[in-house]
Amino acid sequence: MKTIGHWIGGQHVTDVTSRVSPVWNPAKGVQQADLQLANLDLVNAAVTSASNAFVSWGQSSLSQRTKILFEFREIVNSRIDELALVISDEHGKVVSDAKGEVQRGLEVVEFACGIPTLLKGEYSDQVSGGVDLFSYRQPLGVVVGITPFNFPVMVPMWMFPIAIATGNTFILKPSERDPSASLLLAEMWKLAELPDGVFNVVQGDALAVNALLDHPDVAAVSFVGSTPIARAIHSRAVANGKRVQALGGAKNHSIIMPDADLEFTANHLVAAAFGSAGERCMAISAAVAVGDIATPLLERVSELARAVKVGSGRDLSSEMGPVITRESQQRITDLISTGEAQGADVLVDGRGIVVPGFEEGFYVGPTVIDNVTTNMDVYTHEIFGPVLSTLRVQSVDEAIELINANPYGNGTTIFTSSGESARRFHREVHVGMIGINVPIPVPMAYHSFGGWKDSLFGDHHIHGPEGVRFYTRAKAVTQRWPTPQLESGATFSFPISR
Ligand code: NAD
Repeated sequence: MKTIGHWIGGQHVTDVTSRVSPVWNPAKGVQQADLQLANLDLVNAAVTSASNAFVSWGQSSLSQRTKILFEFREIVNSRIDELALVISDEHGKVVSDAKGEVQRGLEVVEFACGIPTLLKGEYSDQVSGGVDLFSYRQPLGVVVGITPFNFPVMVPMWMFPIAIATGNTFILKPSERDPSASLLLAEMWKLAELPDGVFNVVQGDALAVNALLDHPDVAAVSFVGSTPIARAIHSRAVANGKRVQALGGAKNHSIIMPDADLEFTANHLVAAAFGSAGERCMAISAAVAVGDIATPLLERVSELARAVKVGSGRDLSSEMGPVITRESQQRITDLISTGEAQGADVLVDGRGIVVPGFEEGFYVGPTVIDNVTTNMDVYTHEIFGPVLSTLRVQSVDEAIELINANPYGNGTTIFTSSGESARRFHREVHVGMIGINVPIPVPMAYHSFGGWKDSLFGDHHIHGPEGVRFYTRAKAVTQRWPTPQLESGATFSFPISR
């Protein structure tokens, strides 16, 4: 059995005494590796390595950082296929989808390549006689990223390119379910000549996470994962005086207005609900059909859902792979059964699907459920699987009210041909990312990504301009170079401009 370890100080590190956790191949349903889970000593070693590296990296020139970022971008870009296979084998998503996630992560690296422009400060000449004032931003020190299983490359890349570009050193604690891509990225940083200790990977579970949250030399924490853990991470890190952004789970709604283009909408809904087996934080899991479009829409959505080709991520004809674990498969199928028992209508049923040649894999087929109400478990839970629940309402106001009553606020979409409905929707809905005839409104890297309410704890959204602010702190300098002509003398009263 392969053993997966850590990356500290620019090299692979293993610890034969550590606890281990299984890493599965979800397509085959077999264990493929043992992951070493960090103990306290290993976490401390990673923080020491990152602290030591910060002494020089925090002082490195913008030109040096930019050169390394460009080099890293080229290396990742030339090895997308290799990364995609590693992702697919541990996560299960189809290879084309895995390539897409690397591409979206690379966009953040490309954004970070512009760090000299992004870190330009502000300067005010002659704020008083002979006095100038300028402000600029400096790195924080050692920063930590704790990431979920569903995007093992893209989500870490929302964080570390900007953290490193702004002069911090970084410790990544990836998901224990698909940890290998993080080590491949570490090797790529080394090839790009990033100094040892600037990027580190600590594999582990709650023990490692809590040790990082409690460590006095960790300055900031970026977290992406489920809401209960995000909430706990935020409280603990804040109590320890750290800067923290903690992105949580989601229940993303899509309003379908009677004037929407039915074929266009059905195609996009199916892709947004079942792409990556519904394991995207921006997946559409609740369709809110307004008026009489519900029945024809669901007929077409059901037809398309039945046609989705489910199979191993490595099979190039597959459109949708397995879910992450057997427990996840069981949880999703149980929720579908509960929905049925609570009175919803299962129009397309993904329970019990078998993929020939992959009988032990963790598959759930696309599932479409109609007549869901807001008190049902399929609505109140973040299913994180290929399940599209449909709620029927009579007006756009009722739809907006329903979305605003939901505790999550990550992404939401409207399908319509009415500018008036779209404008009302984007202005009135309490959600961080809005799509208008765009099913998965993930902002580009040069904007910031983040939800509202229970989908994000903390003040900063992630990547883009807010990422630069998150990983830096402001300094304002007031300077005077006295000359006899300009010297006005000291005063005991509070200084004012003259
Ligand atoms: P998760 O919360 O189980 O795990 C996320 C990270 O937290 C992992 O690194 C894990 O090891 C760690 N962790 C788990 N339990 C912990 C504990 N008790 N104490 C400390 N650390 C712990 O999430 P997941 O199942 O890996 O990912 C799926 C979730 O992530 C979904 O809820 C999804 O919506 C969310 N997600 C959100 C976004 C977003 O941008 N808002 C993006 C991707 C995923």
